[in-house]
Amino acid sequence: MIYGGIISHEPNMIEKSLPIAVVAIEGECLKSFLMRSAYVYGVGTDRLLQHCLSGQGQGRNAPSYGSVDALTVSLDTDVIAKLSEALCIPTDDLLRLTLTTQYQSIGSRSTACTGAAKELETSEEIPNQQLRFGWCPLCLMEDRVEGGHHYLRPEWTLVFTTMCTAHERPLIGRCQTCYHFVASPEYALYRDQMALICPHCFTPLDGRLGYDFVANKDAHAWNTDETVHTVWNKITTYEKLFLKALSRRAGRSKAQRIVSEVGELLDLLLHAEKPNDFRPVDVFDSAYFPSPAKLGLATRHLMHPFHVCHLVERRKAIAILICILDDSSEEFGFEQGVQPMHRIRELMFRDTYNRFERHVLNIAKIALPI
Ligand SMILES: [Zn+2]
Ligand SMILES: [Zn+2]
Repeated sequence: MIYGGIISHEPNMIEKSLPIAVVAIEGECLKSFLMRSAYVYGVGTDRLLQHCLSGQGQGRNAPSYGSVDALTVSLDTDVIAKLSEALCIPTDDLLRLTLTTQYQSIGSRSTACTGAAKELETSEEIPNQQLRFGWCPLCLMEDRVEGGHHYLRPEWTLVFTTMCTAHERPLIGRCQTCYHFVASPEYALYRDQMALICPHCFTPLDGRLGYDFVANKDAHAWNTDETVHTVWNKITTYEKLFLKALSRRAGRSKAQRIVSEVGELLDLLLHAEKPNDFRPVDVFDSAYFPSPAKLGLATRHLMHPFHVCHLVERRKAIAILICILDDSSEEFGFEQGVQPMHRIRELMFRDTYNRFERHVLNIAKIALPI
């Protein structure tokens, strides 16, 4: 495909500079910027990166989506220089799009990948090892209402973010029209605005407001349900705290120590111990946290740490943790009268439970006002 005669799939026809400079949107992540640029130039993201990074456009070193994701986390100086030259964007503007610039103490455990065992409901296998991009339909709606283009926010890829901090509503990972899992959305033009669309049914991702694994009728009720909003507000408060801690330089601040303890606890909740296929997160039930049942061993394909999970599972795990820390399981709709810690103790092996308890105590200790 040739667009403006500049990028071509014939390696010899490539010229170095591109005709129009695409401007980065404030708060956009690198993957989103590269996807938008590629759309403007009429090529795929891989092809664009190949053009920018290899210089010669040889078939070798063709980057995969995996490496687009890697760039989104951080950029090395060589890559910055090449991208900056080819895309006519100042290096500072490029750097601003990476996760490590916006969240200085981010580690490999802070980014979420997509991927999970098959679900009973859909039997759909979710692709593995790509950065997870949940999205907030309201954020995307506002992008367009304000006359701009859709763009992906960097915090949508983080393990600790399951809610939109601006709208206090859950991020979603499935198209609410065809219900396919959207691992990598695509761009399409709506009038003069670029919208992110579902690659399966081509509907814009802000086309319908819904919640993953919640029926339309219930989703409608949830939009006005006060209890639901109290619950969302509580989770968002915690997640904002996590984001704030990650945005600072790595150190030993109280908030950063809490974030690292929370990471350990989430792993324990989302992990099934052999020979028991149940994960602690699966034995808790609440209408506000619908989470899909898994086929087979829950941790199939998953490697420690268990950042390869559904958004809904992560959200549920964070909710269970908040219940334990705040002693508020009834508020979150989890079974009444049963202490979450008791249930977890029943389910975990003794050593694992001891670890779990120690992390909870550590958080309590760190949070003491001394
Ligand atoms: Zn939002
Ligand atoms: Zn769709």
